[in-house]
Amino acid sequence: MPRPPTTPDPSTATRPARPPSVDTLARSLASTGLPHAICVDIAREAIAADDVEGAPARASAFRRTLLTPVVNATGVLLHTNLGRAPVAFAQPARAVNVEFDLATGERGSRQRAVGQLFARLCGAEAAMIVNNNAAAVLLVTAALAHGRQVLVSRGESVEIGGSFRVPEVMEQSGAVLVDVGTTNRTRLADYRRALSRPAADVALVLKVHPSNYRVEGFVEETPVAQLATLGVPVVADIGSGLIDAGCPWLHGPPPSWLAGAPAAVQSLADGASLVTFSADKLLGGPQAGIIAGDAALVAACSHHPLARALRPGGLTLAALQATALTYLHKRTAEEVPFWRMVATPVAVVQARAEALASRIAGATAVPLEALPGAGSAPGATMASYGIRLTGDRLALLRAADPPIVARTRDGHTFLDLRTVDPADDDHLVAALSRATA
Ligand SMILES: *Cc1c(COP(=O)(O)O)cnc(C)c1O
Repeated sequence: MPRPPTTPDPSTATRPARPPSVDTLARSLASTGLPHAICVDIAREAIAADDVEGAPARASAFRRTLLTPVVNATGVLLHTNLGRAPVAFAQPARAVNVEFDLATGERGSRQRAVGQLFARLCGAEAAMIVNNNAAAVLLVTAALAHGRQVLVSRGESVEIGGSFRVPEVMEQSGAVLVDVGTTNRTRLADYRRALSRPAADVALVLKVHPSNYRVEGFVEETPVAQLATLGVPVVADIGSGLIDAGCPWLHGPPPSWLAGAPAAVQSLADGASLVTFSADKLLGGPQAGIIAGDAALVAACSHHPLARALRPGGLTLAALQATALTYLHKRTAEEVPFWRMVATPVAVVQARAEALASRIAGATAVPLEALPGAGSAPGATMASYGIRLTGDRLALLRAADPPIVARTRDGHTFLDLRTVDPADDDHLVAALSRATA
């Protein structure tokens, strides 16, 4: 029996279609791969904003707020916004003997495994690992100088990376910062004068590598070897974590851009009682901080209550152990991504740039200057090569999957290939061809 024709209800005929239910809209976003609960939030927001059509764009915008691997074509080898040193590390979902002594079957020290490797690498009696170098400096000063004085050259009372400020770290540690010398020149005699004041109660001399800036001209600093004659433990915050100034892992002399960068082995050999440094700068490992040197001082740090709050997790320790073992195996230049980037001859980078440019319409191979980054060796550059495109293509490159991060200058887009893994070259060609189409 045919159905009677339905007469449209005049009161609803002209109204826009009812929005889909939150659930229907959320389900339509499932192909983004986002969890349903997140899709529900996005669907709800889109409906509330009367923007149902915009829901997929909202979902992909959310996706791009998540952590994701990116191609670093900036030419900054250690890009703090891109996680500094790239590291490859994977481990099975197994328990790890983080604090378990396999020899005795008893509870062990979290610091032992990786600490002994760094002690060996640095030529130190002992070493321990914390969350980052800021934590290392905080712990050292809190454990060794709380309520007492720490001498710091006025030229080294620096701010590094926005939130690491020597005077503020000192304040948090409970140590009393004593400024020594002047902004541009600090001599051994200035430290001696601070030590001989009637109220002097000096626990440490802290030498901080200024890292991200350089003073030139009428300048003088007091080297560790001289500070070590003062009779007070010297702590050298060398910052970047160059293990050995001679870079014995490179096949040849150390690169010229490293000239003057303080190194762990030499600072300790010169008489520093402790060195502190980041693991994710010139060391090329995961984010962590290393404290290495005198065994009694390292032990005092590891027994301080803050040590627990600043301790690294098993994942970090395992990744750092892998990095330390690579150094000890002398495979640094081949297997630590940062040093592999450094060690690549510019001719090799140039050949890649030329090969890529020939595959992309409108692209030109150009010489560039790459930077170590992360405040390591400020002002230093290394010869590199890359690709130049006309116009600002940054947004299109960031929209690639994986996203590509490049730089613009004078209305051109530049991709430096020294910081790009050759395995990503084909991806670069595909994304650049789209970006220039
Ligand atoms: C980078 C740096 C720090 C801070 O290290 P993080 O690992 O980023 O916490 C502290 N001191 C110096 C000299 C540095 O170069």
